[in-house]
Amino acid sequence: MGSESVKVVVRCRPLNDREKALSSKMVLSMDLQRCQCFIEKPGAVDEPPKQFTFDGTYYIDQTTEQMYNEIAYPLVEGVTEGYNGTIFAYGQTGSGKSFTMQGVTEPAAQKGVIPRAFEHIFESIQCAENTKFLVRASYLEIYNEEIRDLLGSDTKQRLELKEHPERGVYVRDLSMHTVHSVGQCERIIEQGWRNRAVGYTLMNKDSSRSHSIFTIHLEICNTDAAGQDHLRAGKLNLVDLAGSERQSKTGATGERLREATKINLSLSALGNVISALVDGRSKYIPYRDSKLTRLLQDSLGGNTRTLMIACLSPADNNYEESLSTLRYANRAKSIQNRPRINEDPKDALLREYQEEIKKLRALISGQLGTADLSSLLAGQISETSPVVPSRPLSNTTEAKKEKIKEEYEEKLAKLQAEYNAEQESKAKLQEDIAALRCSYESKMSNLEKVQASRGSSVPKNGDRKPPGQNKEPCNYFINWHKTHQPAVPCTPAGVQKGPDRGGAIEATDDSTAGSLDQEQVLERLQQLEQEVVGGEQARNKELQQRHRQRKNLADQRKVQLIHALTENSEESESVLLNVYNSIQEEVHAKNQMLVKVQGKLKAAKLEIRDLQAEFEVERNDHLATIRGLEKEGQLLHSLLERMATLVRRDCNYSNLDRLKKEAVWDEDSATWRLPDVMVQKTTLPSAVAPKPSVCRSSGPDAGEPHTVEEDRYKEMLDRSDSENIASSYFKPKRASQLLGGDVSKGHGETTNHRSTLLKNGLADLDEIFSEGQKAQGPSD
Ligand code: ADP
Ligand code: MG
Repeated sequence: MGSESVKVVVRCRPLNDREKALSSKMVLSMDLQRCQCFIEKPGAVDEPPKQFTFDGTYYIDQTTEQMYNEIAYPLVEGVTEGYNGTIFAYGQTGSGKSFTMQGVTEPAAQKGVIPRAFEHIFESIQCAENTKFLVRASYLEIYNEEIRDLLGSDTKQRLELKEHPERGVYVRDLSMHTVHSVGQCERIIEQGWRNRAVGYTLMNKDSSRSHSIFTIHLEICNTDAAGQDHLRAGKLNLVDLAGSERQSKTGATGERLREATKINLSLSALGNVISALVDGRSKYIPYRDSKLTRLLQDSLGGNTRTLMIACLSPADNNYEESLSTLRYANRAKSIQNRPRINEDPKDALLREYQEEIKKLRALISGQLGTADLSSLLAGQISETSPVVPSRPLSNTTEAKKEKIKEEYEEKLAKLQAEYNAEQESKAKLQEDIAALRCSYESKMSNLEKVQASRGSSVPKNGDRKPPGQNKEPCNYFINWHKTHQPAVPCTPAGVQKGPDRGGAIEATDDSTAGSLDQEQVLERLQQLEQEVVGGEQARNKELQQRHRQRKNLADQRKVQLIHALTENSEESESVLLNVYNSIQEEVHAKNQMLVKVQGKLKAAKLEIRDLQAEFEVERNDHLATIRGLEKEGQLLHSLLERMATLVRRDCNYSNLDRLKKEAVWDEDSATWRLPDVMVQKTTLPSAVAPKPSVCRSSGPDAGEPHTVEEDRYKEMLDRSDSENIASSYFKPKRASQLLGGDVSKGHGETTNHRSTLLKNGLADLDEIFSEGQKAQGPSD
């Protein structure tokens, strides 16, 4: 298994209006051919600029399109082949992370990486031959070390991270949404974006302080020439990180600084993980230090192809931050990943779908004969003209209508764009458009008919799930199970698992097959076939060719890049090895090289000086934070110690040392698990009322009886002060009372047993006393 390094590109945005108004100078420059980036220290004219080399450099005029085609394209293409991929944008607030990831619609060339990835993935899916895909999306954010599902029914709920031996680290209960088109992906991300924005205006925070991860999960089923299915899975993480500026620089102090420290915890943990990975000496990689690093664990030093886009501001007043971003990015270049295709994923939903489809097809062809089935499926199920489902509840009809309409509009727009571009295929396209329109109309009229026939049976629940939430399949399965398999529960929300596991038709028995409602089987088959996509444009030669061209372009770019990078390193060697015509020529060439090398040496020395100064600042920062935390810890400790004396002695919370020992740190939730509050009482059998008791209760819950107990306890303590317990306890009167027959009356076996024990015990004690007296005798 080969390893490959994390790809890192840098992108510099133009000066913004504010910077222009301040007449800021540009301190960044780039050599695009050699992928080099230079940064000059403002005011230090005699210092050479610092130089960094990356896998790509994009200056103020370069577009996201260019960047995507050159560097992101191969990574995303890999995801459609079964690799994992991660693209993340890093940089200070306002440096262009969201501009790069989300992008703008105008101009089209500046459309973001995320929408481009959607288009790319669906283009690849449509061009794929003999391959089916199940595409699902999830969207989460990390704010203040809390994970929230931006597409979930409750966006405020905190989600937990879990680890699975095969799946790795995952977010429990994160909703997954099946998507069939670019349009659906766009709607989903918009919805998530709105949730993110709403959350923050309520909390009066801005989104630049949270990290967001949009993930596209692909399951790929390829059928080979022998008819064998091969399963793979790939996922693409698209990450928009929070601003990387150092909070101490922004002047935050006290509470705000502490809050900011927590917000930026993920980012500094990311930095530490990168350093540890690059260092090579450290065996321990601190992934567990933050939620972000745990989620990106696989992307940094794992089984993922990773691209980091470092975003920069060119202005002199951002020099410190830009330099820090460049250093961060430069370090990330050396991280080695070991990407491999995820073959035969154990929990693939697609496998279940495919198997069920096969079973259903067998079931129906058994009933109808293959010819009937193919005509039925051709007419109703495949691609553009699905059967009118008779079962789904009618509140989904509207949603379906909308979906069909959107699909229609999307396809129409696509077809028309192609039509404009390629005049020669005009006739064919018109045919396509006509067919599409025809299918659209037939779908709409069919749906309307169904709706009309169902009339007033529209359910009360009018809330519409966002696209892809698979409400219909779930509803369908409520019906399915009602009719056929009442014992099997339906997948509750249908979000995570689609029309899936809960609804699989297990009955392949021919005898039961006969009794199955053909319509429902067909409907289920249709649903399953609609869940998976792939190969719709497999015969569209032009699209295929365009796809191949883009792939080639990316490959060419890779070769260019390798060439440029090797050129950089070989230059000095060639000067030394070159054969010169004259000694002057050689002296001249070597002098030039010497000047260059001296420049590099000077730059390296300056770099060492700067780094040392920066480490000093950073160390002081950390020390200040540690001191602050220590002070706070001490205050809390003093308070606790004072308060512990106020807690009743028989409560376990009165013993701080014991509590500390019993508290357990829970790695998953990053919280302390404290022992329950307990009041433990051990009372000696009372001399007055013989009720020996050991009472364990849990403090505040015990309520009234507790106070009675407490009073008794106090009374006993009072008495114990004035009485000599030992002497009164072992008084002959008490012994005779215990030994007396009436004690055991009505107390059952236990009391009998106890009194026997006491009897023996007292006999022993008598013996000891008399022995003692004997022993004392002579000495007197
Ligand atoms: P971030 O997400 O890093 O905080 P934004 O992406 O919101 O920053 O960018 C801040 C501003 O700069 C936005 O107004 C954006 O339109 C503009 N901007 C960023 N990058 C570019 C670019 N490459 N070209 C033009 N404008 C840009
Ligand atoms: Mg942003």
